[in-house]
Amino acid sequence: IAEEKLKESEAQFKDFFEKASDAIFIAEIESGIIVDANIAASRLLLMPYNHIIGLHHSQLHPKDKAVYSNETFTGHTLEAQQKGSTHPSENEVVRSDGSLVPVEILAAEVTLKGKHCLMGTFRDISARKQTEQALQESEFFFRESQHAAFIGSYKYDLLNDSWTSSEVLEQIFGIDKSYSKNFQRWLDITHPDDREMMNRYFNEEVLAKRKLFNKEYRIIRKSDDEIRWVLGLGKLNFDAEDNIVEIMGTIQDITERKLADESLLESNELNNSLMQTIPFGMDIVDEEGNTLFISKNMEKYFGPDSIGNKCWNLYRDDKTQCSDCPLHSGINIGNTDLYESNGVFGGRTFQISHTGMVFRGKKAMLEIFQDITEKKEAETELIAAKEKAEESDRLKSAFLANMSHEIRTPLNSIIGFSELMSEPDYTHEQQFQFARFINVSGNNLLTIISDIMDISKIEAGQVQVKKTIFSVNQLIIDIEKEYSFKAIEKGIELGIDLPGSKNEIFIETDKDKLKQILVNFVGNALKFTSEGYIEIAFKMAGDAVQFQVKDTGIGISAEFHQQIFERFRQVEPAHTRKYGGNGLGLPISKALIELLGGTIWLESEQGVGSTFYFKIPK
Ligand code: ADP
Repeated sequence: IAEEKLKESEAQFKDFFEKASDAIFIAEIESGIIVDANIAASRLLLMPYNHIIGLHHSQLHPKDKAVYSNETFTGHTLEAQQKGSTHPSENEVVRSDGSLVPVEILAAEVTLKGKHCLMGTFRDISARKQTEQALQESEFFFRESQHAAFIGSYKYDLLNDSWTSSEVLEQIFGIDKSYSKNFQRWLDITHPDDREMMNRYFNEEVLAKRKLFNKEYRIIRKSDDEIRWVLGLGKLNFDAEDNIVEIMGTIQDITERKLADESLLESNELNNSLMQTIPFGMDIVDEEGNTLFISKNMEKYFGPDSIGNKCWNLYRDDKTQCSDCPLHSGINIGNTDLYESNGVFGGRTFQISHTGMVFRGKKAMLEIFQDITEKKEAETELIAAKEKAEESDRLKSAFLANMSHEIRTPLNSIIGFSELMSEPDYTHEQQFQFARFINVSGNNLLTIISDIMDISKIEAGQVQVKKTIFSVNQLIIDIEKEYSFKAIEKGIELGIDLPGSKNEIFIETDKDKLKQILVNFVGNALKFTSEGYIEIAFKMAGDAVQFQVKDTGIGISAEFHQQIFERFRQVEPAHTRKYGGNGLGLPISKALIELLGGTIWLESEQGVGSTFYFKIPK
């Protein structure tokens, strides 16, 4: 019976031995030689049974891991096994193709055919190892990415009011492991100004509405009291009864991004406010002249529908593209130039600075408009004033040359004739003649000097009006009498034309000045007329009295009608002068007429004659 039982148990063992999925090797303890192995062992080593038998069991392993002693099956001690330790050892086996397989080994002492043997069970753990490695890698990546992105993770257990955090989260909060972690302690880390808001957010938004936690808030980092921005995310977890039990999530330090956002916002704000407040208009147009952008400042001119419109339709009076519009020659990116556009916004002149640029991925032109109408006008005025100054300088020089001639002539005559008078050879008759010449020259000199005095006084504003009431008729009759002799001398007629000859007309004005004006005109008429007649006339014209002095003299061409009222201005060029004079008579007359509250004008045609008119209040 005992034999039967033994056979049966041996058969069972054989069966178990052969069918076992783990590889089993049996080695003699004393020699370490493998005496038996199962099919799974052949599979593990990729080696036939007869190659395995006879190997030393340390040969199963790579050289650096081949441990051998009589009591060891590759490191797993019998002693440990005998003490009941089930803790297996790990090693590697070398396959016949040289590859290595990680194995877990359990050893047991057996007696085989009367010999002390060691039985080793080798379990292929490569799949487990791979999983372990994958897990390690994933842990590694998780940890590394937390560090890299500076994202920490947490889990908050609501029932126990305590949270745990990853290493990175501790760094973000500036705390260490000893920091006691509950809800209030989290609030302690948040910025005092955000604390109330975060408390409400967590309770009223996340817990009450069962929402995701998603909030940017400030904390004061415990380690250095620095204000930092964080983004907190979190997801609620529920138990079987749908009660909230925990919240898990991440907290990321977003301070740098936040600061960048802020500075971007600031620079955007600055840009915007620049765009709005810049004192000149700005637009951006594409290559075809379509408006892509306009500054606020331009909107008031362009109107709200300006975007997409051709720019010249918006601001040019003639709604056509400027002939020198820079778009004709194409946009040059980075190039800035200037051009002037006339006829803009109702006859104004704009200076446009244009720069080639890329806008929304396309070639475009930035135009900056500046209204230079006033500047241009001022420039033109300045040029005119300069020309006038140069002209008057020229006139003054001409006047001086002229004056020296005008003054020398009568002076020479006075000196010359007075010398002759003192010679005894001349007759009484001749001496009388000399005296007359001296007298005429003296008067001429007096006229010139009075004219200069007059114009100087007028310009200095020192001439005063002394009004009296007198008869105009009488004044004109007197002038006629005074000058008829001269007219007869020249062989021309001097006449007067008075309204209603019997009714004398009285006016109130400065009689001397009125006479001076009239005499001036009559003097000129006599000077510039060699045949025909001269006529002095006046008539009433409402509240004013209008005078005219008409002659049939050389006349004045239209281009000089304005100029002759300027000081020293004479139609005749200095080098061909035949009429004399100093160019002061008309400016004096004009100034006096204006002083009396009147106006002056003339009608004249070259070769036909001239009529000088003026009107003063009666
Ligand atoms: P003057 O007669 O001393 O030259 P005025 O100021 O009186 O200066 O006149 C300026 C110029 O106007 C004259 O030089 C002359 O060329 C022109 N002029 C003035 N009156 C007449 C006139 N009656 N007929 C033609 N030319 C005239």
